[in-house]
Amino acid sequence: MPNHKTVQDYIRTIVDFPHEGIMFRDVTTLFADPRGLRLAVDQMLHPYAGTRIDKVIGLEARGFILGGAIAHQLSVGFVPIRKKSKLPGATISEAYTLEYGEAVVEIHDDAIQAGEKILLVDDLLATGGTAEAGIKLVERLGGEIVGCAFVIDLPDLGGRARLEKMGMDVHALCA
Ligand code: 5GP
Repeated sequence: MPNHKTVQDYIRTIVDFPHEGIMFRDVTTLFADPRGLRLAVDQMLHPYAGTRIDKVIGLEARGFILGGAIAHQLSVGFVPIRKKSKLPGATISEAYTLEYGEAVVEIHDDAIQAGEKILLVDDLLATGGTAEAGIKLVERLGGEIVGCAFVIDLPDLGGRARLEKMGMDVHALCA
């Protein structure tokens, strides 16, 4: 029996999580399926076939799962961008604004060498605040972002426009 499921078919929506009124896009069902995970990794890499990528950067936490799989596929290294105070070594930080308050993300200050070509990976692009902070961290270390790859883009929240305004090449598999 042929399998014609798309990446979108493996993603479920959880109503009122983590707060009332939020429709949370749950990608754990995509990751849990052997065809789903492979499809997502292959499709996220497709636009970058033939492009030099030296490292994959994943945003906490679901970006670690995708980013690790993508880095392995490319035979390159993986570097995490984590929430404040989680990384053990010396870090640099970027703060960004959330709906209520502020968040801080960090990267090890020796994780990227100047001139390295970087693919930034996360599961979902909403306002783009998290990805923008990640891009700034990579660029402060001298890395050059060749693309930003997501499974889901929620274009109404403006993230894609925000990243494209920064000159980023943005790819997502579904909306
Ligand atoms: P942004 O900074 O673009 O507003 O939010 C994107 C970040 O929030 C990503 O790291 C993403 O993992 C997380 N996020 C926000 N909403 C959702 C959602 O509905 N589903 C999932 N899986 N992640 C979300």
